[in-house]
Amino acid sequence: MQMKMTKLEERAIKLLLKYEDSGMLQSELWHKLGVTSREGSRIAIKLEKKGIVKRVKEFANDRWTRRLVPLIKQLSIAPIKGAPCPSCAYESVCGLERSVSPCTCVRLEEWVLGQDTGTGPSG
Ligand code: SF4
Repeated sequence: MQMKMTKLEERAIKLLLKYEDSGMLQSELWHKLGVTSREGSRIAIKLEKKGIVKRVKEFANDRWTRRLVPLIKQLSIAPIKGAPCPSCAYESVCGLERSVSPCTCVRLEEWVLGQDTGTGPSG
């Protein structure tokens, strides 16, 4: 499902994703976005309702505030880097129950077998 977001919400998410492990104090985010605390609070509440951040109560700089912790992660294309499909001449006709099947594709099999997942036994 596609979520409708304002430009400000998108900027807030991009900034928050840079701190995806620790989150950031909401006042820091307002400062970086150049918005008032009232406007910023509205954005944070919207993002929380959408399940994008959680607002955690925290005592910082001599007062209670909220830390915004992202509940989403940045995607990395690293796991599929080098896959043969994007440059394959048969890509448009390939699929399960189609004229060309990935189940019998030698190029795909060779690429998968050549991947180092780092999860298998060593030695
Ligand atoms: S699975 Fe094989 S045939 Fe299908 S798009 Fe990928 S490389 Fe091409």
